[in-house]
Amino acid sequence: FNGTIPPMPWFGMDIGGTLSKLVFFEPKDSITAQTEDETQLLSNVTKYLTKNSAYGKSGHRDAHQQMDNVQICNRIGTLHFIRFPTSEMNNFLDLSKKKGMAASVSTVCATGGGAFKFEDIFKNELNLKLCKCDELDSLIRGLLFTVASNNNECYFWSQCTEDEQCSTQEYTFQHNKYPFIVVNIGSGVSVLAVYGPNNYKRISGTSIGGGTFLGLCSLLTGCNTFDEAIELAANGDNVKVDKLVRDIYGGSYSRFGLPGELVASSFGHMNSKEKRAQVSREDLARATLVTITNNIASIARMCALNERIDRVCFVGNFLRVNPISMKLLSHAMDYWSNGSQKAIFLNHEGYFGAIGCLLSFDE
Ligand code: ADP
Repeated sequence: FNGTIPPMPWFGMDIGGTLSKLVFFEPKDSITAQTEDETQLLSNVTKYLTKNSAYGKSGHRDAHQQMDNVQICNRIGTLHFIRFPTSEMNNFLDLSKKKGMAASVSTVCATGGGAFKFEDIFKNELNLKLCKCDELDSLIRGLLFTVASNNNECYFWSQCTEDEQCSTQEYTFQHNKYPFIVVNIGSGVSVLAVYGPNNYKRISGTSIGGGTFLGLCSLLTGCNTFDEAIELAANGDNVKVDKLVRDIYGGSYSRFGLPGELVASSFGHMNSKEKRAQVSREDLARATLVTITNNIASIARMCALNERIDRVCFVGNFLRVNPISMKLLSHAMDYWSNGSQKAIFLNHEGYFGAIGCLLSFDE
């Protein structure tokens, strides 16, 4: 943008491998737009987006995540959060056309792989130029902005071994916010070490992420959505699927501090025909969730150890409606580090890329 502030409406879009995230800034101050057209368009867009919470068949607004009183480029307003499956991009484009959204919006900031993949379609179908931002730059920018704007953005889970006592508590970064690790669990996983506002590096990653969970769970249970997969997992028991240390040792392997309840082999029971006959779809969903989550915890712990950083922020939509994974990650970080590493979670879990992208002209 070369230092110029684009006309409203302001959008930030993160077109990911599974989900597209759209953030919309609704101005709430008394500054009026420069042109009649701008006022009209902004009013139409605002009405449509804020009066509805569902768009077409698959678009959703996450009203519980709405952020009021945010300041961007000296404007005060509200951020609205919308998501839809990236596979529905054609329907999104049709709807945008129908709602007259595209007619006058000339530029939208976009990040994620889809900003590249769909660039030509946006240009040809909507006459819209995507201003492309790097996804990890956007992620960090959005995360830092959100943590600075929201006092209660971060939280952690305490006492996660006791199911009944386990609860979330607000987490405040003390005076020294840096360094910390970010583990972004989307379709795949990226691990970043953040040393300062403009100083981070990508230290690791794995292709075994949220997309793997949903893919394997769909294969094993025939479930159709992420929310259904999580619901199944909540009602299942991985102990029927996984081989535990006690299944092998008859108890714990105490010489190396491995408790009997620890999973020794994920899905290790499933080579047996009898055991297979005893497991439910729920058990399989739970075992899939536990397997993927523990693998990510293991990578996160090693990264934190390597970098000598003890705070690890877990973000990404894999954690949406997913307390099971958050508790597992919290427990794994705490247990295997003897309490020195801490798992931190953020309320706007999957939206930081889109937020950071919207902020890109405020640099
Ligand atoms: P990406 O940018 O790669 O799409 P996200 O951070 O949006 O990554 O996370 C995508 C992951 O979030 C999916 O792989 C799935 O595990 C999980 N997820 C959460 N909610 C949904 C949903 N409504 N539909 C599909 N996947 C979802």
